[in-house]
Amino acid sequence: VKKKGGQYEKQARPVEQAAVLGAGIMGGGIAYQSAAKGTPILMKDIKEEAIELGLKEARKLFAKQAERGKLSTGEMAERLSNIRPTLSYGDFGHVDLVVEAVVENPRVKGTVLAEVEDAVGEDTVLASNTSTISITRLAENVKRPENFCGMHFFNPVHRMPLVEVIRGEKTGDAAVAATVAYARKMGKTPIVVNDCPGFLVNRVLFPYFGGFSLLLEQGADFQRVDKVMEKFGWPMGPAYLLDVVGMDTAVHAGQVMAEGFPERMAREGKNAPEVMYDQERLGQKNGKGFYAYE
Ligand code: NAD
Repeated sequence: VKKKGGQYEKQARPVEQAAVLGAGIMGGGIAYQSAAKGTPILMKDIKEEAIELGLKEARKLFAKQAERGKLSTGEMAERLSNIRPTLSYGDFGHVDLVVEAVVENPRVKGTVLAEVEDAVGEDTVLASNTSTISITRLAENVKRPENFCGMHFFNPVHRMPLVEVIRGEKTGDAAVAATVAYARKMGKTPIVVNDCPGFLVNRVLFPYFGGFSLLLEQGADFQRVDKVMEKFGWPMGPAYLLDVVGMDTAVHAGQVMAEGFPERMAREGKNAPEVMYDQERLGQKNGKGFYAYE
């Protein structure tokens, strides 16, 4: 961990218009949180259905706030209108900061980052919500790496306070400052961390998933492990957490970690998320993972 971020904020260029690429679990959550805290956000995906799902989730979260009496119907409509869905980069010219939240694949992310860089202004900050891929490595895809950093939210975005702001080798102070300030405006607690595969939190979390996998191989029952970890005091156990994260994301992120730390993370054979992924049990996103969902 480098600094808590306070020192950067004085020089921050405010984010008045944001954008997010990807309307999935994370993109939808980031759009909601930005809209709820008053920063208009364009939400771009390549699939109409993904945008519909992202908007549905945001509507549900706003409706909950209204039910609890925290928002009037008018306020709810106004906040929701802060999210502008789109399938194109047409309106990206005036965006101050873009959060890239597409699938955890370095090639896809590379293409998307190069595309969006051509659509935005020279000073626009590009921030990746990658879980594990090194920011220095992703920066190879952009022409202005000084404007590029990591902005790693946690799932579910509206509930998890932490945001890792990752400084790649070429990231400039202005990009870090704007990202830290935007995270705070979203009501989050940013920390500025150095770059490496998995950054800080996932260097702790992925070995934990590895330990869970080994327990299952040795015959442990996943529900029992979950119950024990809940009793230990964690909000949920590893099986349920993997269902929330999504098995595809967990597998791809796990591969990045194994490549980054082969001596500690690589292993023979398939781990539990890989076995589940092969069986198309992706977790909550397709209704079946370790547990079944409606
Ligand atoms: P997801 O599968 O729910 O959503 C990904 C979205 O990206 C899909 O809607 C897909 O249509 C869209 N997409 C794919 N290519 C695109 C393109 N070229 N342009 C625009 N949209 C495109 O995945 P997710 O869980 O939201 O993960 C997104 C990113 O966030 C990944 O990098 C992941 O590692 C990271 N992340 C995930 C979690 C988690 O718990 N799921 C937590 C933190 C970070």
